[in-house]
Amino acid sequence: MFLQRLKEDKNSNLFSIGINLMTLILYVAGIHASHTFTTLHSEVASLWFPSAITLPLVLKYGIQVFPGITLASIIGLTPSLQRISPNLSFMGFAFIQISCALANCFQPMIAKYIIQRFAKSKDIFINIQSVCVFIGAAIFSPIISAFMGVSALLSLNVISAEEYFYSLLTWWLGSALAHLIFSPTIMQWKRKDFISQGASVGEVVIIALTVLLICSFTFILIYPVEYLLFPPLIWAVFRLKRFQASLLVSIIALIAIVSTSLGYGTFAKDSVNLSLILLQSFTAVISVITLILSAVLAEKQITKNQLYETLEHLEEKVLERTKELENIQIDLQNANKVLEKMAYIDSLTQVANRGCFDKILEQQWDSLMRQKECLSLLLLDVDYFKKYNDFYGHPQGDECLIKIAQCLQSVVRNTSDTVARYGGEEFVIILPYTNLEQATVVAKKIQSAIALLAIPHEVSKVSKYITFSIGIATTIPGYDNIPNDLITKADQALYLAKEDGRNRFKIFDKDC
Ligand code: GH3
Ligand code: MG
Ligand code: MG
Repeated sequence: MFLQRLKEDKNSNLFSIGINLMTLILYVAGIHASHTFTTLHSEVASLWFPSAITLPLVLKYGIQVFPGITLASIIGLTPSLQRISPNLSFMGFAFIQISCALANCFQPMIAKYIIQRFAKSKDIFINIQSVCVFIGAAIFSPIISAFMGVSALLSLNVISAEEYFYSLLTWWLGSALAHLIFSPTIMQWKRKDFISQGASVGEVVIIALTVLLICSFTFILIYPVEYLLFPPLIWAVFRLKRFQASLLVSIIALIAIVSTSLGYGTFAKDSVNLSLILLQSFTAVISVITLILSAVLAEKQITKNQLYETLEHLEEKVLERTKELENIQIDLQNANKVLEKMAYIDSLTQVANRGCFDKILEQQWDSLMRQKECLSLLLLDVDYFKKYNDFYGHPQGDECLIKIAQCLQSVVRNTSDTVARYGGEEFVIILPYTNLEQATVVAKKIQSAIALLAIPHEVSKVSKYITFSIGIATTIPGYDNIPNDLITKADQALYLAKEDGRNRFKIFDKDC
């Protein structure tokens, strides 16, 4: 544990040293590049490269890179201070060095504070509000550092009072421009973004060539056609990755700055001030436009993606709900079937109930009336069932009724025949297309089947087993009679069977 901690500490120390070393090298190289390439008329640096580097570094690594910035600032400033004012005391020298180093550290720190405090998006360049905050921070932060540094120079007479404002302006604009043009490119650098995804290699080459052609006309020759750079720049913003578009702006700005400092191109005027204004305003404008346009596009893309995501989510939700509804519908159908069954099936014996019997009898009646076919009805009543209940108990009576129902169902094989519980211990059987002889055969079969079951009935007066009395009635349904007539006839026949001693069947009529 301790060893691991030590190793981590060592690693972070090494990392910190590496980062600072990198800051130092880049900063000093930046100073050198600014002096070499961006100084107009050997006087003023139109762009201060170190500021382009310190902002992304401080944004990423925070105050960790301050030693590197401080050291680089001291190294960078020393030759200038020696050259400008060789009579500077050690204290004065130290004061200016400390002031400028502090100013160079403060500048990116202030920008970082503004960005972190006010930018809504963590990825600054994909959000218009955040880009505007970045632009604001890039412009505002150098004002304070310029004030600190230039005031220190003035306080020790390194610069005169007349030079004060101009120096302030130069420091400010040079740094602000570096923030605007190069910092976004560094901040958006991603290795994979070197390879374009949106545009083909051919398209990239055409954009690059167009830009180079216009640049050569504007910044090498003196044709004032710099506005022609906007179409390819907008094209790049639309088609390339944000980093690539930003890189293109940096390259254009670099070409403009270097060529102007060398005295070429449309911005190279006799007056330093005029050259500076033209160069800085142009590079600032292309940079700001590109940054904002890129952010607008990124925001649009994000909104589009979010919309697609929402739509997909919505589709999923709809499908989910539809499935749920389908399931509910299936459940409902099943519940309906159960209810239907409950409405037509006798809960104890599981044969058709009285309601069902009435309905089927009516249907069969109508159908057979049209066909002029026979319809038979068997009305069955268990003999001495009250005694059975009294002797064996009601639950046993229920069991007996269930067995009887199953027995009747097994005898009546024909699918058009219906066994129903008429009420209590009475059952009824509807036999369509069945004449009296055939109905009698069914009655006999029932009696044989129940005899075969041999359900003991010790207290019956007619047998040792459960027996039925059956009333048979047959008719051809007609307009002059109704289903109830047939029931009445069967009932009367049943009554006769009971009267005649039970355990037998009686026929009411001989219509068929
Ligand atoms: P009979 O031979 O004249 O038909 O005599 P019975 O005793 O069968 O006739 P009765 O009408 O006097 O009695 C019918 C009995 O059927 C009375 C009742 O306890 C019984 N019963 C009716 N429904 C049910 C039922 O659902 N379960 C049970 N266990 N018994 C029932
Ligand atoms: Mg009865
Ligand atoms: Mg009975």
